[in-house]
Amino acid sequence: MQRDFKSLLDNTAYPALKRPRRRARWAGLAAGLTLFAAAGLLFTDTDADADANRGTADSALLENNLSGDARITLPLTLPGGITHEAIEATFAAESAASTEPEIDWQVETVRSGDSLARIFSRLRISPQQLDRLMRTGKDTAILKRIMPGQTLKFDVQDGELQQLVVEIDRLNTLHIQREGEDFGTRTATRELETRITNASGKISSSLFLAGMDAGLSDNLVMELAGIFGWDVDFALDIREGDHFTLLYEEKYLDGEKLRDGDILAAEFSNRGKTYRALRYTDASGRSDYYTPDGKSMRKAFIRTPVDFARISSRFGKRYHPTLKKRKNHHGVDYAAPRGTPIKAAGDGKIVHLGRKGGYGKTIIIQHGGKYSTLYAHMSNYNRKLRRGARVKQGQTIGYVGSTGRSTGPHLHYEFRVNGVHRNPLTVKLPTAAPIQAKYRADFLAKTRVLVSQLDMLTSTTVAANEHVE
Ligand SMILES: [Zn+2]
Repeated sequence: MQRDFKSLLDNTAYPALKRPRRRARWAGLAAGLTLFAAAGLLFTDTDADADANRGTADSALLENNLSGDARITLPLTLPGGITHEAIEATFAAESAASTEPEIDWQVETVRSGDSLARIFSRLRISPQQLDRLMRTGKDTAILKRIMPGQTLKFDVQDGELQQLVVEIDRLNTLHIQREGEDFGTRTATRELETRITNASGKISSSLFLAGMDAGLSDNLVMELAGIFGWDVDFALDIREGDHFTLLYEEKYLDGEKLRDGDILAAEFSNRGKTYRALRYTDASGRSDYYTPDGKSMRKAFIRTPVDFARISSRFGKRYHPTLKKRKNHHGVDYAAPRGTPIKAAGDGKIVHLGRKGGYGKTIIIQHGGKYSTLYAHMSNYNRKLRRGARVKQGQTIGYVGSTGRSTGPHLHYEFRVNGVHRNPLTVKLPTAAPIQAKYRADFLAKTRVLVSQLDMLTSTTVAANEHVE
């Protein structure tokens, strides 16, 4: 074992720093973007804009206009459901109230320096009523914090407050109603409208750039990487030409997008190998991603034990990681800026924490009886960790450095099965439990439409690519 380690400690020259092979290959590949434009044919037609490969679909129907003539429309049942009814019900309730002929709503916009007492006095409502209103319960506490510009709707009859409607924020409205001598309250929450969108991208320099070109937020790109991070090492494995397609939700209010929702289905093609993931929520409310045949996407180990966003992002091409192929080198080196977080590849127990010869500051984690992982050259450990401590998968255990025999900041990572070094990039990893048998039929039924959507999106992408090339 000692000899094993020694052989690993040979001069760690980092081609990433000295000879940026991948960068050279990636240079000037903007041409790859024209493929996006071609993909744009799928949804728009002539507009060869980088955004053109995105299609926005109605929430109840997913429509894609294929090459401008064949239109395929598929009904889509989604976990979580679409809630037009709820939104309409809220509107109906309000408009029913506001169209009652005998109600003469007085709309007050809160002015600077206003208090509720002042507004009540403007409307000639007695302070006693305000008093009673404020004693109604915790819901009315919001009235103490009214802000200039906020709108209050009053229904006052013969000096008696009958109803008060307060817009708490864009989503929530407080309704106060007279109930005899007292007041009752209820809060109406508008539900966001969910729209399903799709996007595709092809990687020419980095996943983040490809995501940006496809109109995805960095968060969504991270989520995409998280879904496939069990199979694909996003720091070392990504190649020019890798491509992805995803269907995801967008949350809207009054026709305006507020945020992204969940990724519902995605495909990632890495070095010619294609992975697919489908989101499924079981009857107990648990959501996770599965392969189309119901296997879990999760594995006992993540492929990338460093925060890959820090090394393959648009910020530092200098730090492209490289895979060391030299003989006797039993690990993988991730060149990364000093201080980049290092993550535990899997749940386990720390069996070594400390300096280890040429390895410098090193942590070894034992994962059950069979597997162990080693992380070397750290600048620092996570201060909370000690030998014997249990760690969770993805937990930060330390930071990239250059301690020990090392010529530049990098993580040296080793993966062992039954004490034997294995290539962490290719070793077969144990998977999490597949979809439960009792949910299998439901899973297949609910994900069928997602699969056909992916089929359609990806097959037409290929067709468009072929047309261009
Ligand atoms: Zn190494």
